[in-house]
Order: sequence, then structure tokens, then C-alpha cells
Amino acid sequence: MSSGADIYHEMIVDYSRNPLNYGEIENHDVTFHDSNPLCGDSIDIDMKIDDNKVADIKFHGKGCAICMACTSVLTEITKGKSLDDVRKIEKNDILGELGLEHLQAVRIKCALLSLKVLKSALYTYLGSHLENSEGIDTLKTEAENLY
Ligand SMILES: [Zn+2]
Repeated sequence: MSSGADIYHEMIVDYSRNPLNYGEIENHDVTFHDSNPLCGDSIDIDMKIDDNKVADIKFHGKGCAICMACTSVLTEITKGKSLDDVRKIEKNDILGELGLEHLQAVRIKCALLSLKVLKSALYTYLGSHLENSEGIDTLKTEAENLY
């Protein structure tokens, strides 16, 4: 008999072996890198932005199974979304998808590294396309209050 937890476990193993949206975008509009030294997870996210939408998104790097699975799910959720909708993505959108809502605190950084990189990439892009400094300050506050 297989329980719900087993199904989630299989999904995580599967994504970590065959991550979705893995690779690089050569002529990306924005890229961002960050790492989680506690575990050794290290990822880059590249995005191609067209008409205020995420036309394409890819990631590369290395990480534990949870990091790779969450980054796969996040890039899948993000692809095709408007930048406003990307701003609204929350941690439970990823955690819920993989049954990780009750993850131990020590692993939460593995799970949410991709979200941190995505939001940082988004704010970098928006910051470089905003003409008034008031908008940039709002974005910085949003980035700082992510967790
Ligand atoms: Zn990790």
C-alpha cells in the first residue's frame, strides 16, 4: 500500500534525478545566483522577459533532492506568468506541491533557495527598469520581508 507521503517522496526523487527546466538561457534578460552554505545548494536562475511576462525560465547548479525538486516546481509555476503574478508567488505554492508544508526548519532553506533566487532576479530586473527611486525602495522592502 502506498501512502501520500510515499507519493511525495517519489516525486522529489524523480525531480532531483530529472529536474525540469534545467539549463541556461543564452540571451537572458536577467540572471541571479545564490547559495545555501548550510547544505551546499547553489543555483542560478535565468529568465527571458517579454511583454512583462516570463517567456522562458531555466536554472542550473547543484543541490540536494529537496532543493532540486522545489526549483523544478517553482520554475514550472513561474513559466508564462506575468511579472505581477510572479511577485505574488509564496512559499506554500511550492511546499504544498511537494507535501513539504511541515518541513523541519533546517531543510526549509533548501526548499526555499529557489524562491529567494527567483524573487531576487525579479527585483533586479524590475529595479533596472524602474525610473523612479520610490518604486525601487518598495521593491527592496518586499525583498527584505520575504521570509
Ligand atoms: Zn539542500
